[in-house]
Amino acid sequence: MASRHTVLMRLVASAYSIAQKAGMIVRRVIAEGDLGIVEKTCATDLQTKADRLVQMSICSSLARKFPKLTIIGEELVVWVDPLDGTKEYTEGLLDNVTVLIGIAYEGKAIAGIINQPYYNYQAGPDAVLGRTIWGVLGLGAFGFQLREVPVGKHIITTTRSHSNKLVTDCVTAMNPDDVLRVGGAGNKIIQLIEGKASAYVFASPGCKKWDTCAPEVILHAVGGKLTDIHGNALQYNKEVKHMNSAGVLATLRNYDYYASRVPESVKKALVP
Ligand code: AMP
Ligand code: MG
Ligand code: MG
Repeated sequence: MASRHTVLMRLVASAYSIAQKAGMIVRRVIAEGDLGIVEKTCATDLQTKADRLVQMSICSSLARKFPKLTIIGEELVVWVDPLDGTKEYTEGLLDNVTVLIGIAYEGKAIAGIINQPYYNYQAGPDAVLGRTIWGVLGLGAFGFQLREVPVGKHIITTTRSHSNKLVTDCVTAMNPDDVLRVGGAGNKIIQLIEGKASAYVFASPGCKKWDTCAPEVILHAVGGKLTDIHGNALQYNKEVKHMNSAGVLATLRNYDYYASRVPESVKKALVP
């Protein structure tokens, strides 16, 4: 029987090519012009044809390549967000969109793949469109250039389309030099590792385990930290509830600065 490490590395390699194919589907749906938008719970919680096609594509490819995945499914769980940043996708903010495949072992996020289908889409016709960022804990993260925000600058990135009073109270308490409001959990982690933002602050329920699994690995693989708003690590075992009820706090550096500024009122309102 293949060792767990062999299975993991095969899974990461497959997820990389599966994520690239997913990115092509995301671009094709836009090119064809019919997004097939459906409201899930409300007008800011959407699903498009791309969400549905990518979900099917990823699940069927994984099932074909890893028919025995369920056998080790107790320990190895794959968290998939076929399209992260769907709201922004429907509004033409295309570089906010990512496809997320996260792999957890015994409840801990250990490998992650992020495809950004529209990376470079404003860089002119000759630019190569799309990229895949991947990482494994203990190995590193690849497919991008690690950059940091200048020391002493506090640039917060937060939700664009799912804000509320708790979210803004928490952001204000960080005493930021600048606040970026963009779509997607994957996109915000990319901002942290490319030196565009110093902290991802989202003091609200709404974000799910499939939003954070892959991004958290990429961030952790380069020395960053992602937790809920109380500072608790997130768990990714099969039975865990999907909602990140106590929000998200993530930084590449200076995690303690941001954690220490989360208001008590915000913490009280967000039960893990
Ligand atoms: P955002 O930063 O708003 O793009 O959110 C990051 C991820 O969490 C996206 O996949 C959103 O769909 C999801 N999310 C955050 N807040 C909510 C909400 N209130 N309702 C539904 N999904 C949400
Ligand atoms: Mg998402
Ligand atoms: Mg999604």
